Amino acid sequence: MHLTTNALVLREVNYKESDKILTLLTEKEGKLTVSARGCRRKDSPIASGCQLLAWGEFTLYEYNGRWAVKETASERLFNGVRGDLEKIALASYFVEVTEALAEEGQPDPGLLAVTLNCLHALDKLPVPLPQVKAAFEWRSMALAGYEPQIARCGVCGREQPREPHIHLGEGTVHCGSCRDKLGEGVSMPLTTAALAALRHITWGPRKRLLSFRLDGEGLQKLSDASEAYLMTRLERGFRTLDFYKKITYKPSL
Ligand SMILES: [Zn+2]
Repeated sequence: MHLTTNALVLREVNYKESDKILTLLTEKEGKLTVSARGCRRKDSPIASGCQLLAWGEFTLYEYNGRWAVKETASERLFNGVRGDLEKIALASYFVEVTEALAEEGQPDPGLLAVTLNCLHALDKLPVPLPQVKAAFEWRSMALAGYEPQIARCGVCGREQPREPHIHLGEGTVHCGSCRDKLGEGVSMPLTTAALAALRHITWGPRKRLLSFRLDGEGLQKLSDASEAYLMTRLERGFRTLDFYKKITYKPSL
């Protein structure tokens, strides 16, 4: 049996002498684990298409009860990401989250498109990395069914909460002064502009996902809150995120 589908390589693990086991997010079948036999040999025609973050058409065949790569035709390798340590660290985090959210046998065109959009932004667009990160985190959470309640304060109903915060456990925005009426747990501060950006990311058209501007403080708060919200919802951390933070950490003097 053969399957031809566009796919993005979310993970690669070396196997035996010259093989890899790949985790793909495919257009047709959702997440798939496939073996790429011989792809680490120098002259392998599938070497380039079988590396982390490669996007393109895969022809798969069934071999010993699992899928194996027959051919690849790469469309994008995101080379501008590969040559930059901070970008490759952030891109690795994006695909680790995507792998956690994607399901086998279930195509998820929204998640695939947002992941590709954000990889494209890292590769080609002059957008600050924390902005791409926050946009990816909030939008992927919304797609996964964890869209926060951001239309109004979850306590008093005000459309523009005063000193806006987001309660991570309850997934609702609220005014600073309304905090006492919500349950236990952590609330992270936003700014009015950061909340406007969060609404844009969550509700706006996907193609304009990154079309917002925020000052340094607002962007920092939006990014801190998005990361904390994602980890609260998924109840786990990500080693790729730890690495990204380690290399981008700048101590305040
Ligand atoms: Zn309120």
